[in-house]
Amino acid sequence: MRELEERIRNEGTVRAGDVLKVDAFLNHQCDVGLFDRMGSAWAAHFAGKRITKILTIEASGIGIACVAARHFGDAPVVFAKKAQSINLDGDQYTTTVYSFTKQREFPVIVAKKYLNAGDHVLLIDDFLANGKALRGLIDLCMAAGATVEGIGIAVEKGFQGGGDALRAEGYDVDSLAIVESMDPKTGDITFRH
Ligand code: 5GP
Repeated sequence: MRELEERIRNEGTVRAGDVLKVDAFLNHQCDVGLFDRMGSAWAAHFAGKRITKILTIEASGIGIACVAARHFGDAPVVFAKKAQSINLDGDQYTTTVYSFTKQREFPVIVAKKYLNAGDHVLLIDDFLANGKALRGLIDLCMAAGATVEGIGIAVEKGFQGGGDALRAEGYDVDSLAIVESMDPKTGDITFRH
């Protein structure tokens, strides 16, 4: 998606440790018009697939998933929680994920009543790096007996390999911008096409 690549090139900053910051439109301030066009791009890619639910993970995935849902017949959006809370009641599916940005493990939790065996799920997230967050969401879907129909990602860092590993396993991963390389010294970013 050219528009997303341009925004990353113009407004993104490359940090040491393979971190790309895109707070100006994705991770802090949200460009809802851009989210809408991202949703439209995923809808075109996944046209023909039956999506009954969108599953994402807090926090940055939520806004993107909710706007994208408008392009999938207002499919309900469920976001996995990253911490236990007294607000989470009843039976839950839980797994553990290692966070690339926080450099620690955290739980990933969905209440059983919101993820079911009959669900055809589109996973959505802001970033795909090593794929740990998505593996957690896939684990939850498997525990529920739900079908993962596809994975929509805004920014994949292709050089970290998580996306290609998932594709090799047969998952349909649609990343709207794939960063092939980025240099924290010069700020140069190249994309895969
Ligand atoms: P993974 O689990 O694929 O290694 O990392 C994906 C998760 O880590 C995403 O949910 C995202 O929140 C975060 N993440 C990974 N790399 C980056 C990055 O370069 N920039 C930002 N903003 N988030 C990242």
